[in-house]
Amino acid sequence: MTDAAASVPVRRLSDWDAAELHTLVEDYGSPLYVLDRERVRENYRRLETAFPDAEILYAVKANALGEVLSTLREAGAGLECASAGEVQRALGAGASGSEVHYTAVNPPARDLDWVVDAWADGPELTVTAGSEDTIDRLEERGYDGRLCLRVNPGIGAGHHEKVATGAAAKFGVPAERAVDVLADAADRGFDVVGIHAHVGSGVSSDQLEAHREFVARMGDLARNVAGVVGGLEFVDVGGGFGVPYREDEAPLDLESVAEATREALGAVDADLTIEPGRYFVADAGVLLTEVNTVKEARETTVTGVDAGMTTLLRPAMYDAYHPIRNLTAEAGDGSIEAENGPAGRERVPQTVAGPICESGDVFCTDRQLPASKRGDVLAIGNAGAYGYEMANQYNSRPRPASIVLADSEARLARRRETVTDVTRPEREARSASPTDRKNDHDRATDTDNDPVR
Ligand SMILES: *Cc1c(COP(=O)(O)O)cnc(C)c1O
Repeated sequence: MTDAAASVPVRRLSDWDAAELHTLVEDYGSPLYVLDRERVRENYRRLETAFPDAEILYAVKANALGEVLSTLREAGAGLECASAGEVQRALGAGASGSEVHYTAVNPPARDLDWVVDAWADGPELTVTAGSEDTIDRLEERGYDGRLCLRVNPGIGAGHHEKVATGAAAKFGVPAERAVDVLADAADRGFDVVGIHAHVGSGVSSDQLEAHREFVARMGDLARNVAGVVGGLEFVDVGGGFGVPYREDEAPLDLESVAEATREALGAVDADLTIEPGRYFVADAGVLLTEVNTVKEARETTVTGVDAGMTTLLRPAMYDAYHPIRNLTAEAGDGSIEAENGPAGRERVPQTVAGPICESGDVFCTDRQLPASKRGDVLAIGNAGAYGYEMANQYNSRPRPASIVLADSEARLARRRETVTDVTRPEREARSASPTDRKNDHDRATDTDNDPVR
């Protein structure tokens, strides 16, 4: 085991072995997600070192691959789940009820039904409700287990408005109502265990003051609530630990964040809980994609690749920056630095674009990269978080395969989809009996299937 001190705070795209990645595309095709399991472990250990007294949950929605869940579980993390499907995955990865927090955001009835069923087998499961309706609906289903209240602190943070959830009315009960709501829930027999807020993704060192203010409010609230419901087990301040996407961006200073958090929380007789997602997996993953088109346009050179916004949505959805390398050019040149050397390729501004019929389907605009050639393999960095998870089948495009690097070998962790996978639900609908068709809505979280691994 590597100890935390030996683990660098960020793994840059330039730290990956170009030849090794190149071989993976030759073996498994393109586009291809690659995830390094050891890096996920290192990220966990650094966080554990900075927050030795905190309970650490992994926000599964960042990357729900079974191997990621089992790796983080084994390292000591609990699992924060955003849906019944994620709870199903968590249990499938071997988690017990006590390791699972289910955060219900406008939960569909079938999610609540499924989770309340799972609670019967794992009564230590925690449900985080973000509205009084959700508490009522849990009660209607006979749930009187561990309940946490998601509050809306009225402060948002984050790298893009679409992920600044703290101030959005959608999430949580207004903090000023929390004491009443929880006192009422305790009266109704719920086991009130915690309060929760997540102020959005992308908390960074220069937003430390906002973080401090947010945590201080949570500390005050925890003291008020504890007085009314007779004690709290934990105060969950969410995730949102930022990672540097740009090559020149400094990594988050975890120690300062941890210190600010402890200080701001003040004295509370409850555990601190954090639930980062991105931080564990972002720099543990890359997306590999092959160049199929090089086109001189009027204003730029367009490098067409086989991955698109359906493979990695973040640039199109959040204007997110992801570093890019041309692995083939580097292999040929020996070094990217040899840009003007005899074998080196010249760097030219390029717009790297995918195969989707949308103008937003670009990974970068006018970025200086070694001149691309058809057949080159590009690596897109920091793709381990919200990469495959947000992939979709728009344009009838099957989702890519995923490789896990572990114990110095590469393993296919999820096969590439085919068009047959994309069209299967339609064929099944045509061949199903009328009764099957009507009952289909119950199958969204199908308990008859083996747990998803
Ligand atoms: C998405 C999410 C997280 C994780 O956010 P990151 O930015 O990936 O750390 C944590 N908690 C909740 C409730 C979330 O929705």
